[in-house]
Amino acid sequence: RPTPTNQPASPPTPADLPVGAGSAISVRGLRKSYGRDEVLRGVTFDVAPSEVLCVLGPSGSGKSTMLKCLNLLEAPTAGSVTVGGVTLTDPGVDIDAARTRIGMVFQHFNLFGHLTALDNVTLALRHVKGISKAEAKEIAYAQLGRLGLGDVARHRPANLSGGQQQRVAIARSLAMRPEVMLFDEATSALDPELVKEVLAVMRELAGSGMTMVVVTHEIGFAREAADRVIFMDEGLIAEDGEARALLDDPPGARFREFLAQVL
Ligand code: ADP
Ligand code: MG
Repeated sequence: RPTPTNQPASPPTPADLPVGAGSAISVRGLRKSYGRDEVLRGVTFDVAPSEVLCVLGPSGSGKSTMLKCLNLLEAPTAGSVTVGGVTLTDPGVDIDAARTRIGMVFQHFNLFGHLTALDNVTLALRHVKGISKAEAKEIAYAQLGRLGLGDVARHRPANLSGGQQQRVAIARSLAMRPEVMLFDEATSALDPELVKEVLAVMRELAGSGMTMVVVTHEIGFAREAADRVIFMDEGLIAEDGEARALLDDPPGARFREFLAQVL
């Protein structure tokens, strides 16, 4: 590894560091195995309130698994995950309640095909949050309008473009008023001309002060919208630093190789 020119190499955060008191997200020594295959091998990081963290890394490095462990869609094998001061990995935690504070957007939009955009958004509001039909509709219209979808609120997913579908999925998450938003390659399934409109929505959300963890291959987005970047490699955080500094002067041969491939 060559000597970095203008930034000190930051040692990885030790796994036994106390949970970050003011952190929006605090992950300590996170491990996940599938059978004998350990795909997360001790991941430790914090995300500050309103911080935008981009997660980069080659396919299979554990990015999706890590993201799913943040809201316990996957159960960690070891380590702790704390979101908004609640340690989700503690026994007896009401995980359903905790999940309503964490929005997640996937590569494939996961909308209900038989429901309109509007009903996709109102569904969770009514059933998870117990909000009345009228109030849920009001919230949903406002959220869809904010994301430029007011005109298509009554359309079903099949009659929307991929970019519109993904924006509906984002609107559905935001309507729940989450404290943090997780994005897993939210633009990877989109035709190139539709990527921009989704990134624009994510950029605006980042600017509004939302705490975000964004798994992406969009280096431009990482450079412009992220505060911090972590680079995952084989189930570990190989690099962690300020977004521009890390991307403009990438330390580590593996990270440079990766950037050369995706840029
Ligand atoms: P990334 O999102 O960085 O591409 P993933 O988190 O999807 O990586 O996968 C990391 C590793 O874990 C891969 O080797 C993958 O095959 C494996 N893996 C992911 N999910 C499962 C699962 N449900 N069962 C077994 N292996 C899995
Ligand atoms: Mg993935």
